[in-house]
Amino acid sequence: MLLTIKLYFSTRMPLPYCAKCQSIIPLPLLTTETKRAVLLAVRSNQTFMAIKLIKDTSVSDLKDAKCVVDHINKVHGHCHNCSYTTLETEAGVCPVCNSFNFNWPDEVVY
Ligand SMILES: [Zn+2]
Ligand SMILES: [Zn+2]
Repeated sequence: MLLTIKLYFSTRMPLPYCAKCQSIIPLPLLTTETKRAVLLAVRSNQTFMAIKLIKDTSVSDLKDAKCVVDHINKVHGHCHNCSYTTLETEAGVCPVCNSFNFNWPDEVVY
């Protein structure tokens, strides 16, 4: 596990790491349209649809796509894992529970 992390960090742009679930978070290249569709699917509890959307539009495999969806928050600014409500960056780690969050802005949807 440690070796994998080191490899990722030394060869490419560092990928974010979620200390909560101990996984390296893939960063899919998504268009605004795809982000919007994914976010809407996540917010309406259509997890499988969200995973499929990511898988269909980027190179990530099913496991990576699921990992991405697992880390998308349902409410902007709110950690997907705990009660922290002031996440500021689009992709960052919650200071309370150390979970990585995709905190895409609401403007993506509206
Ligand atoms: Zn996690
Ligand atoms: Zn948290």
